Amino acid sequence: MKFHDLTIQEIRQKLRSGVLTSVELTQACLARIKATDDRLNAFITVCEEEALAAAAVADQQLAAGDTGLLTGIPVAVKDIFNTLDIRTTCGSKILANYVSPYDATVVAKLRQQGAVIVGKLNMDEFAMGSSSENSAAGVVRNPWDTERVPGGSSGGSAAAVAAGQVVATLGTDTGGSVRQPASHCGVVGLKPTYGRVSRYGVVAYASSLDQVGPVAGNVEDCALMLGVVAGYDPADSTSVDCPVPDYLENLKDGVAGKKIGLPKEYFIAGLDPDIKRAVEAAIETYRQLGAEIVEVSLPHTDYSVACYYLIAMAEASSNLARYDGVRFGLRKDIGKGLTGMYQQTRTAGFGDEVKRRIMLGTYALSSGYYDAYYLKAQKVRTLIRHDFLAVFEQVDLLLTPVAPTPAFKIGEMVNDPLQMYLSDIFTVPINLAGTCGLSLPCGLSAGGLPIGLQLIGKPFAEADILQAAYAFEQATDWNARVPKL
Ligand code: GLN
Repeated sequence: MKFHDLTIQEIRQKLRSGVLTSVELTQACLARIKATDDRLNAFITVCEEEALAAAAVADQQLAAGDTGLLTGIPVAVKDIFNTLDIRTTCGSKILANYVSPYDATVVAKLRQQGAVIVGKLNMDEFAMGSSSENSAAGVVRNPWDTERVPGGSSGGSAAAVAAGQVVATLGTDTGGSVRQPASHCGVVGLKPTYGRVSRYGVVAYASSLDQVGPVAGNVEDCALMLGVVAGYDPADSTSVDCPVPDYLENLKDGVAGKKIGLPKEYFIAGLDPDIKRAVEAAIETYRQLGAEIVEVSLPHTDYSVACYYLIAMAEASSNLARYDGVRFGLRKDIGKGLTGMYQQTRTAGFGDEVKRRIMLGTYALSSGYYDAYYLKAQKVRTLIRHDFLAVFEQVDLLLTPVAPTPAFKIGEMVNDPLQMYLSDIFTVPINLAGTCGLSLPCGLSAGGLPIGLQLIGKPFAEADILQAAYAFEQATDWNARVPKL
């Protein structure tokens, strides 16, 4: 079963008219997972029985005229979202058997709209990574080429959609973790504006940057999923109380007359030639669709990666202090007192990348270095945000590549963290600025790997980038391509 040629709305139509039942659809997903996941490892937990039971309930609701936006639709969520009764590991040994006593707000919202939750998706441990190689549950593989990474940290969320294992998924994006895997797997992924979606019940990585975002097979589904999860939540004080537009309403309005900016700092020499060619062709498509293309400048771009990794690691070191063997998950205690128990637990529970970041983050926050690193990074962050706000005075949206190369080989970068961090150059500035961005397929490399296009919008203007993405998707056929698995 593949869903790429059917939108959620079309599947809903079939479910409502009785041509298809949710149980049949869920069975097809489970069969697809069984047939492919030994190669992909996109799932950490598959909950077959619960999913089939939820599908049976959905079928009854559909027969009774239920109008939920996702009633009976099989979805899955990154294993960073708390789910009542399904374990939440966050890709870490330290949470290997952790079961949350409550659902994350976004999970509750999916369930309220009738979604069937099929399982929890693989990811880099605590969302730290760009390749989904840092998971206690093992490496995730790219459905287009299983020798390659799917991107990260929401690699499972993107691979599962690309492989047709489920219709849509949720991921999180702190510095690119929805957009970059979407780009590497040839699907659509959106990082909403900071504050657009509740993070209540989402395991925290870097709290001033984390956002929840949908991954889907097409732009319309991505818009629909965003509509389901977006909105103010009194349980998350960083969520913003402003109305959620109907993202489907103006989706088809096109881009004629829109001003699209190309930040010159994102079109540097050294960009992979396949990416350059695909993005340039996309620019041409937008021109033909009636958009006005202008060059703009985001002068502080060069500082983004350094600034991001300082802030993200500092916040991570603070957030991860809570895994002390007392309140959550794993405990190792060999009788060396309280400090010994902390040490043993954290030594055994965290993987290398997480440890590296806790150490670097703690260092950056320590007295004597705080001003030089953390405080400085916060100031640079403000400059980066101002770059974006200034540019959005001139243009409606920005167009850039998502990643400097297509999906790389498993193992190629994992021993060179700095190189891996540098590959986040085009995605982290958007999180630092707190605005929204999406990735959608815009080409294939000479080696047949998907290439993504990034559209960046004004704060809370998700509808604008979805509209522009939809126009591009209709004008091209890149998003119709699916991996042969
Ligand atoms: N690759 C980035 C990091 O490792 C982004 C991860 C994310 O967005 N969660 O921090």
